Amino acid sequence: MNLLNADLHCHSVVSDGTLQPEALAQRAKTNGVELWSLTDHDEIDGQQRAAHAAQALGLDYLSGCEISVSFAGITVHIVGLGFDADDATLRAGLAATRGGRDQRAREMSDALAQVGIRNAFEGALRYAGNPALISRTHFARHLVDSGVCADTHEVFRRFLTEGKPGYVPHRWAALGDAVRWITAAGGMAVIAHPGRYSFTPTEEYALFTEFIAHGGRGVEVVTGSHTSADYLKYADMALEFELLASRGSDFHSPDESHTDLGALPDLPGRLTPVWSALQHRVQRA
Ligand code: AMP
Ligand code: MN
Ligand code: MN
Ligand code: MN
Repeated sequence: MNLLNADLHCHSVVSDGTLQPEALAQRAKTNGVELWSLTDHDEIDGQQRAAHAAQALGLDYLSGCEISVSFAGITVHIVGLGFDADDATLRAGLAATRGGRDQRAREMSDALAQVGIRNAFEGALRYAGNPALISRTHFARHLVDSGVCADTHEVFRRFLTEGKPGYVPHRWAALGDAVRWITAAGGMAVIAHPGRYSFTPTEEYALFTEFIAHGGRGVEVVTGSHTSADYLKYADMALEFELLASRGSDFHSPDESHTDLGALPDLPGRLTPVWSALQHRVQRA
């Protein structure tokens, strides 16, 4: 079961990916994915298209999303899998989480103007497939294509991360709310790419403990955002905290993502995969 080629984390144009849900489904199938989930940021409008495309290709599907959460002053991402995409409370929670993005983007644009980069809001908006989901990624693509930086990583490093001129702190959903929206809709909450957060060990312990207290059940161990040292560390933490383990590329774009759909190492055999507890939620092809 751990050897299943499951890819339970990626993004489409509905958030900050560059491919349509149908093109992602096709790419997943071509790359040998056997169980797939589209997990757009704070938005589930692509779910029906993804599920239909998966079905047409003979690819098993789990509903998905990635919710932005503020915890201990840092942005944490919580992936939801296998929920009912029609659930009204989940939909309202996601809408509220998205709500602040427009204002934040305008403030980012004002901040960038102060360092001589003008009209970044209008520029970024042209890259957003979904204007309600304008993201730092869209600013990054705009600043690359307008020649300010050579690639998106340089944009984040120089402009869009804490302490840099275009960074605007933002308050996202509360951890407990995000976990409850997912769980009450019949899904499973999973801590996304824990290796990416700049927590102290004490804060990380608090994240895992509180996440579980709210009903969270999984953690990403093998993800495109982790090093092989992270795989080992979070495999140990999954066992220590009795969490189910997830696997996902976090694919955004053929031009930007270094990990392609389905192209990840297998989950370590000592772990129990999230999909072992989500069989009843899989939309079978
Ligand atoms: P936002 O939700 O608007 O804060 O944007 C966060 C998104 O920016 C993440 O989901 C990634 O897709 C992208 N991102 C964050 N950090 C980096 C980075 N250092 N380099 C490239 N992309 C990044
Ligand atoms: Mn993203
Ligand atoms: Mn993320
Ligand atoms: Mn992601």
